Parts: sequence; structure tokens; C-alpha cells
Amino acid sequence: MTLPPLIEVEDLHKNYGLRRALRGIHMRVAQGEWVTLFGPNGAGKTTLIHIIATLVRPSRGTVRLQGHPLTGDWTEARRHIGLVSHRSFLYPDLTAAENLRLYAHLYDVSSPEARIRALAERVGLAKRLHDPVRTFSRGMVQRLTIARALIHDPQILLLDEPYTGLDAGAVAWLTRLLGQMAREGHTILMATHNVEQGLALCDRAIILHRGRLVFESSRQALSPDEWQAVYRAYVEEPA
Ligand code: ATP
Repeated sequence: MTLPPLIEVEDLHKNYGLRRALRGIHMRVAQGEWVTLFGPNGAGKTTLIHIIATLVRPSRGTVRLQGHPLTGDWTEARRHIGLVSHRSFLYPDLTAAENLRLYAHLYDVSSPEARIRALAERVGLAKRLHDPVRTFSRGMVQRLTIARALIHDPQILLLDEPYTGLDAGAVAWLTRLLGQMAREGHTILMATHNVEQGLALCDRAIILHRGRLVFESSRQALSPDEWQAVYRAYVEEPA
């Protein structure tokens, strides 16, 4: 018996008024696969990720998680999803620990204090756990956002520009962390403009342009230079 893909996107459209953000996306992501989305500003990457994360409703088309259409019980879908997006979804006046405790409670995490300590170690914030988030640097907020997204050990990680605000050391740290998560069997869908990090560990890379999926390839099939050339060809040509 073949298992259905973990994420299955069929003929997905999203219109914002007259603006067509997604124009018929078909995409499958297998369990344990890491797929990176590239595309210029406005290509539709965030919209696609937000629809899969159940934050935005599509105008037309279907998303299935493990074969189940994303309609109705979004709470159940959200249990399987960790989202790192442009917004941190953190409360600045609460401490890092209080924020994580809140999300642990929302997701009904068992042994939350142990989980919070382990995650704080993992994201390098153990020493700042009891400081309010408003006193954090941008990079520290991003680290805590990642911990927040991982609190319920989601099967699927949806990452929209997760390298934003991170210094060179933290960029390398995040790539190592995501590599570990991928080896542990998590499924990753990441949008980024960072070609080096985006291609470093992914299994497959996709180019979105003007709301359409215009190119996809396994990582091994193309070198970073070839990828850059393909990207330029698709993105700079009129679609
Ligand atoms: P970037 O690389 O700049 O983050 P993106 O590929 O993530 O871009 P989206 O943010 O998905 O692109 O935007 C796709 C299109 O949808 C753009 O034309 C954008 O202006 C439009 N759009 C996105 N969100 C909204 C919204 N809430 N209301 C109106 N238009 C929107």
C-alpha cells in the first residue's frame, strides 16, 4: 500500500480582490521530505504557506494533510504544523518561558517545563528564559519564534524566511538545527531568498513566479550555479 503524500496541494488559487496571488498550484510533499520554495517578492510563497498553515483560506482548490482535506477541523491540522512566519506570534511583555508555557498549554504538551528547558537549550536561549521578550534582540526573537513553533513537536515545519534577522553564526546554527529535524523525520517546507541555505539540505527545490509553480528539481540534479541560472531564466522572463 502506498501512503498518500503528507502535504498535497491541488489546483490552489488565491485572489485578493483582483490580485491573483496563487494561480493553480499543484504540489506534493512526501513524509520526511524537505522542499524549499524560491521566488521573487510577490510570487505567492507566503500565501501558499499561510494556506497550508490554515491561516488563510484559498479561493479555490484543495490542500490535504495525510490525505485529509484542510476543511473543518483546523485544530487537528494545527497539531501537526509548526509555523515560523514573518510574525513571531509572541507576547512582548511575557518572558520567553511564559510565552512557551502559553503555547505548550494551547497544544496540551505533556511535561511542559521539561520541554521548555530542552527547547531553550536547543535554540540557545537558556540564559534568557526569564527575560521579557521585549528586551530581546531581533535574532533572539527569531530563535524564540522557532522554539514556539517546535513546542508541540509538529510533524510538519512551515518556514517562511526563517533566516531573517539572524547573524552569520545563527544562520549556520539554524541550518544545523533544521538538518537535525529533517534527520529526525520532520517534513519541511521552507520559503527563502537565501539560495545557499535554501539549497544546502533540501531534497527538492521549487520556483514560484506570479502565483504559478514554474520549475521544480531535486537538489542533486542542479549545482547552485546552475540553479541560479535556471532561477534567472524563469524569473526574468515574462511569465
Ligand atoms: P515575498 O518574497 O515578498 O515575501 P511572497 O512570494 O511571499 O513575497 P506573497 O506575500 O504570498 O508573496 O504575495 C503574493 C501576492 O499577493 C502579492 O501580489 C501580494 O501583494 C498579494 N497579497 C498578499 N497578501 C495580501 C493581502 N492580505 N491582501 C492583499 N494582497 C495580498
